[in-house]
Amino acid sequence: MDYGLKGQAAIVTGSTSGIGHALAAALAEQGVNVVLNGFGDAGEIEAARAALAEKTGSTVLYHGADMTRGEEIANMVAFARDRFGRLDILINNAGIQHVAPVDEFPVAKWDQIIAINMTSNFHAIRAAVPIMKAQKHGRIVNLASAHGLVASPFKSAYVAAKHGVLGLTKTVALEIAEDGITCNAICPGYVHTPLVDGQIKDTARARGMTEDQVVRDVILAAQPSKQFITFDQLNGLMLYLVSEAGAGVNGAHLSIDGGWTAG
Ligand code: NAD
Repeated sequence: MDYGLKGQAAIVTGSTSGIGHALAAALAEQGVNVVLNGFGDAGEIEAARAALAEKTGSTVLYHGADMTRGEEIANMVAFARDRFGRLDILINNAGIQHVAPVDEFPVAKWDQIIAINMTSNFHAIRAAVPIMKAQKHGRIVNLASAHGLVASPFKSAYVAAKHGVLGLTKTVALEIAEDGITCNAICPGYVHTPLVDGQIKDTARARGMTEDQVVRDVILAAQPSKQFITFDQLNGLMLYLVSEAGAGVNGAHLSIDGGWTAG
């Protein structure tokens, strides 16, 4: 399906793995030139970058900005603008998780999660909005979570950060509503990525359960569909939001969670 995005330019933060990589690949498949970002082995990142460029014919670049550092994030946005001459799509996706009871939650982990999962969105949006305003076109999509709407125990920093992302999303949406820009949040339920693998292990430790029990009784217990959300499902929602069809959706949080937050 052609979403009419050919020739546009995008940044997807945290796109060396999981959801971010799938979203970046979906954009490149649509003819969007993309800046990848995230951590990992330099050789593997370069191989993935080159493979995506080769497969799609889109320009695929990489910028290693650390999402805990505001000036590096601003540099990444300037890099995209300089290399592509524009910036149409910003996907704030980078995120980490840590699972522990609040009274044992490491302070440094709290600060890191708030920085990566929430404050990085502010830095990227702050740098991108002037470019998008000048173009009179832009799409900002923040990867929040079902945990932006509801809580689970032992995830204080993550839940706080994701609730914050929804507040930021709504505020930015009001500020840019007349500029041809939209700002929305996607709230996925569980998607089987390396982040969730880590969570399964941490939750097993925190609750004294086996990993199989965590998947069955904690993770899929929360998701009425009893199925993980897929990359294709997420790609479809993201592509809708960034296309012209999604132009009227602004300041929204869209759940894609198999019914989790309906209950
Ligand atoms: P993942 O662990 O597979 O990927 C996370 C990405 O973020 C990686 O590319 C990693 O290198 C990057 N990253 C981490 N710290 C960074 C930093 N300081 N600077 C730059 N990049 C950094 O995770 P995922 O499951 O694909 O999650 C992606 C997003 O989706 C996150 O915001 C997460 O909270 C959200 N989300 C995930 C799920 C799920 O079930 N997997 C559900 C809801 C929301």
